[in-house]
Amino acid sequence: MPRTRPDGRKTQIVIVGGGAGGLELVRKLASHYDAQDFDIILVDRNTSHIWKPLLHEVAAGSLDANLDEVGYRAHAFRWGYRYFDGALESIDRDAQQIVIAPIMDEDGSEVIGRHRIRYDYLVLAVGSVSNDFGTPGVKEHCLSLESRKDADRFRRKLLNQCLRVSRQMTLDPASDAFARVAIVGGGATGVELAAELYSAATALGYYGLEVFDEKRLQVTLIEAGPRILPALPDKLAASATAELEALGVRVLAGTKVTAATEAGIETAGGEMIPADIKVWAAGVKGADFLAHIGGLETTRNNQLVVHPTLQTSRDDRVFAIGDCAHFVPEEGGKPIPPRAQAAHQMATTAYRNIRAMIEGRDLKPFIYKDNGSLVSLARYTTVGSLMGNLVGGRMAIEGRLARFVYVSLYRMHLFAIHGWIKGMSLLVIGHVNQVVRPKLKLH
Ligand SMILES: Cc1cc2nc3c(=O)[nH]c(=O)nc-3n(C[C@H](O)[C@H](O)[C@H](O)COP(=O)(O)OP(=O)(O)OC[C@H]3O[C@@H](n4cnc5c(N)ncnc54)[C@H](O)[C@@H]3O)c2cc1C
Repeated sequence: MPRTRPDGRKTQIVIVGGGAGGLELVRKLASHYDAQDFDIILVDRNTSHIWKPLLHEVAAGSLDANLDEVGYRAHAFRWGYRYFDGALESIDRDAQQIVIAPIMDEDGSEVIGRHRIRYDYLVLAVGSVSNDFGTPGVKEHCLSLESRKDADRFRRKLLNQCLRVSRQMTLDPASDAFARVAIVGGGATGVELAAELYSAATALGYYGLEVFDEKRLQVTLIEAGPRILPALPDKLAASATAELEALGVRVLAGTKVTAATEAGIETAGGEMIPADIKVWAAGVKGADFLAHIGGLETTRNNQLVVHPTLQTSRDDRVFAIGDCAHFVPEEGGKPIPPRAQAAHQMATTAYRNIRAMIEGRDLKPFIYKDNGSLVSLARYTTVGSLMGNLVGGRMAIEGRLARFVYVSLYRMHLFAIHGWIKGMSLLVIGHVNQVVRPKLKLH
């Protein structure tokens, strides 16, 4: 395809979703293509990006998201693309246009009406939402950790509950008040959040809640499968369980949740687990608006079915990457898991394939390299397994080495979205902030 279209307009590449995959992709495309011939556009319903694997730290208050957030407008200016604030609503594939929902202000008045954006190539990178598997009461009573807003909401609720407990203990030192948190889902998100809460609770005493400490925190981690951390080897899951239990977390594996209520979580075994705060972290699916969007093929979980080239199965001009893409590398095999490393690798393949399409070359298949999984138990320890090319097999790691590799994943993301110079500067600033800023975000 020629660089400029026959009608003289620029070739327009639209990426919807500036998350782990989309933001890396847009930066690569904008760095490569000349703005005279190409219009690279990012659409996101938020005005800033935060790397999702940091959300449990934002929720517990151990990370101030203001410091790690990337504002799309400034990023777009730096790298030479255009950013549009808005939520994708539908796709008109015949007209090669996406439809953006009206933008409303906080009072409900319309800022910008429903509108359309033309594309020559479209990449959907809209991530996933949590899957409640139709469990009654989850929507009404459970929080999830899908966005900065969710994490901020969780932190405010947690701080308020800690404040209530602290006040009760001041009035009555014999009080048996607790801040009770139930987390459903023993995958990485649930496990990391549970450990992070204890780490945060130990610090609250420094910041005015003198009578509150981690003994006043009651965290229950509920997992339907036979053990937590199914992606990790037995030995590491056992080690993480022991570490969590030593902190005080009640780990309930093999426990199916039947309902969430205002009072707590109900299990199939008939137990009612009382909780002031309930968190649902038991799996993900594509957002409802994705189901059959634009007539594209989607799974029962609303993920977009893609070919090995990451083009959607019914439209070569529409790609999907990251959590919203459904790709099974071999027949009868497992789909690529919804992970940041998969989104990162897909961004690279989509970049190469969009270029190949524009330049008339053959497209290459996406090959997923599972580099392993790492789970951080706050400052206590990190556990994980490294796989494939990194170590020539599968190796269980724990402690400092695991922590180093865990932190490196975020560093790689910073380099991918900011380039080396700014990425390195941000790392240095991060270290300085660890010294000069409070250990907890308390508002
Ligand atoms: C708490 C937590 C911890 C995690 N820890 C790890 C980990 O340790 N390791 C790991 O590999 N993975 C981890 N994950 C998973 C990882 O974060 C995701 O797999 C990854 O972020 C997916 O990237 P993505 O680009 O597909 O989507 P996302 O990063 O979710 O980005 C999606 C983007 O799309 C935007 N968007 C959504 N809908 C619309 C719409 N309608 N219109 C416009 N924009 C839209 C969103 O605002 C967002 O910016 C974790 C996830 C969570 C929630």
